[in-house]
Amino acid sequence: MKTMKAAVFKEPGRIVVEERPIPDVHATDALLKVTLTTICGTDVHILKGEYPVAPGLIVGHEPVGVIERLGSAVTGYEVGQRVIVGAITPCGQCYSCLDGHSSQCRGHAMGGWRFGNTIDGCQAEYVLVPDAMANLSPVPQGLTDEQVLMCPDIMSTGISGAENGGVRIGDIVAVFAQGPIGLCATAGARLRGASRIIVVDAVPERLRLARALGADDVIDFNTTDPVAAITEMTGGRGVDVAIEALGKQQTFEWGLRALKPGGVLSSLGVYSGKLSLPVDAFAAGLGDHLIRTTLCPGGKERMRRLMSIVQSGRVDLRQFVTHRFPLDRIEEAYELFANQRDKVIKVAIVP
Ligand SMILES: [Zn+2]
Ligand SMILES: [Zn+2]
Repeated sequence: MKTMKAAVFKEPGRIVVEERPIPDVHATDALLKVTLTTICGTDVHILKGEYPVAPGLIVGHEPVGVIERLGSAVTGYEVGQRVIVGAITPCGQCYSCLDGHSSQCRGHAMGGWRFGNTIDGCQAEYVLVPDAMANLSPVPQGLTDEQVLMCPDIMSTGISGAENGGVRIGDIVAVFAQGPIGLCATAGARLRGASRIIVVDAVPERLRLARALGADDVIDFNTTDPVAAITEMTGGRGVDVAIEALGKQQTFEWGLRALKPGGVLSSLGVYSGKLSLPVDAFAAGLGDHLIRTTLCPGGKERMRRLMSIVQSGRVDLRQFVTHRFPLDRIEEAYELFANQRDKVIKVAIVP
């Protein structure tokens, strides 16, 4: 049996590189040779045991690669083609997919999130792509692996925060937290035509990147109360759209408090424990607030659109890759990324 190296979740606190069998390819699958991948904040939640997955699962959900083998029923692709696959791999056939909620595939909450959650993921030399014809998205000529590495999750998720927040031309948008996803939400707000983008974080490097991606005002929450500052900046109106990009009570609440009546709180964070809604900020339920949550949109058409934005030069996320590790040393990469050391934004993992 041929084997491959893979990063495997063993138990909370332990993800290790092991030899695993190269998966068999069934009719509708494709086998991808992974050429580049990365670690997501969600993988850190898995490592810490805050998001439960089965011990023995290969983690990772952001693959860039080359088609190694195609299932017998897969048409329209060729072995050797360079592709990316979204973090979310919808089937493209079920009622949820056909109803426009493909991230909630097959009627399950988060049902489209399979890589590194319910099936083996891509922090490995090879990954099996389910429902290949719905998910393999060819990389346009001229784009490097690093240029498209953020498309499968970070860019898709971040930009969806602005899309599902319904950002309109001339809106004032606030983005709470400027990690990789928050930064992409900032880029998304600019793409959607916001006239003023206010971002909140405390890490100088992230605030600098935020400005490069379209932020007009940056608020360091260590020195400034973001809600008071945003209220002042908007002449007491509040923002049209607040994007939450961390998954904490604090950022959720800031978002709600900074919002105008009738505004949209677009929530991207992964929450754990309990989330409470302060009734005063919610106008006792009568403020026409819309709270909208989003799981990363996936599927090949979404990936094609995102890569077309990269190709056009409208957004360049290469600067997110601050560190590079071979797959062999992914445990070090997790340690660095989980502890946010050395100004890390994203780590590229080369199998
Ligand atoms: Zn992710
Ligand atoms: Zn589906």
